[in-house]
Amino acid sequence: MIIDLKTAAKFLENNDDFLILTHAHPDGDTLGCGFALCEALKSCGKNAIVRCGDTAPEKYSYMGKLCEEDIEYENIIAVDVADAKLLGKEFEERFGGRVKLCIDHHGSNRLYAEQTLLDPSAAAACEIILEVIKELGVEVTKSIADCIFTGLSTDSGCFRYSNVTPRTLRMAAEMIESGADHSKINVIMFETKTRTYVALERLALESMKMFLDDRCAFITITRDMFRESGSDESEVDAIAAIPRQIEGVSVGVTMREKPDGTFKVSMRTHEGVDASAICAMLGGGGHPRAAGCTVDGDAQNARNLVVSCIEKYFKEELNS
Ligand code: 5GP
Ligand code: MN
Repeated sequence: MIIDLKTAAKFLENNDDFLILTHAHPDGDTLGCGFALCEALKSCGKNAIVRCGDTAPEKYSYMGKLCEEDIEYENIIAVDVADAKLLGKEFEERFGGRVKLCIDHHGSNRLYAEQTLLDPSAAAACEIILEVIKELGVEVTKSIADCIFTGLSTDSGCFRYSNVTPRTLRMAAEMIESGADHSKINVIMFETKTRTYVALERLALESMKMFLDDRCAFITITRDMFRESGSDESEVDAIAAIPRQIEGVSVGVTMREKPDGTFKVSMRTHEGVDASAICAMLGGGGHPRAAGCTVDGDAQNARNLVVSCIEKYFKEELNS
């Protein structure tokens, strides 16, 4: 059931113990949502913890610590999680059917939770979390501001993407007024690269292939490339932005091999190409300009399948 802001705030006010879940392979938005909401609930005298099916990359540690103990509270909240399967295999099995409140900004949200507070016009789920925090009457502390700013900045590519609205920028300004360390956060998120990341980026660029009259650029990252570079999946997010940056490319795809041999697809598009619609053909989803899905098969078959879906989308667009 879709609910409004007031109903979501009432649910939080009327209950005491909350287990907040982020999506697996956590990013700045889902962690920012989790830690900001957790602090806000605690300041209302409630019990709250944040958990994730994966560990969080060290660069996000200034926002807070995930609870690593196996603690369960009955009121399960998922933040920035469009589909229960994005909780990761173990957490999906354990918690996926029992989420009481989902706070999210993906138009493709599967409405798997009992109640869903959804705003696809939000550049980051952190925009919605900030509204919830204000509705609860909680003061925005410096640590909450750091979390919310991180979500706003990371999900908008440092305020560059088309998902940015006046509200995003107003909220970012407000967070700076509340003490967010904006430049420090942006340096960590956008101006700092590990050596292992740079080694992986080089291999990723070498793997790039062009398809569909050079309108599609495709990067494939294999397990061997992770081994050779010393990098791992926690470092791949920044690579997903690269193929779309090539002049003339309207669909950039980065596909990485998971330990189980499946391939995780990260698709980024320019205006006029709906990444979420293309990924939906393969059981995934996301936003109009950034979406994802998982595909089986060896690298070449998986790539051909994704390219064939993009081709199908182009043909349907031409005919419509
Ligand atoms: P990323 O490429 O950064 O992993 O994901 C881009 C966007 O697409 C994110 O908002 C993410 O939640 C969404 N997304 C990625 N993979 C999937 C998927 O398999 N299913 C759904 N529904 N959304 C996905
Ligand atoms: Mn998000």
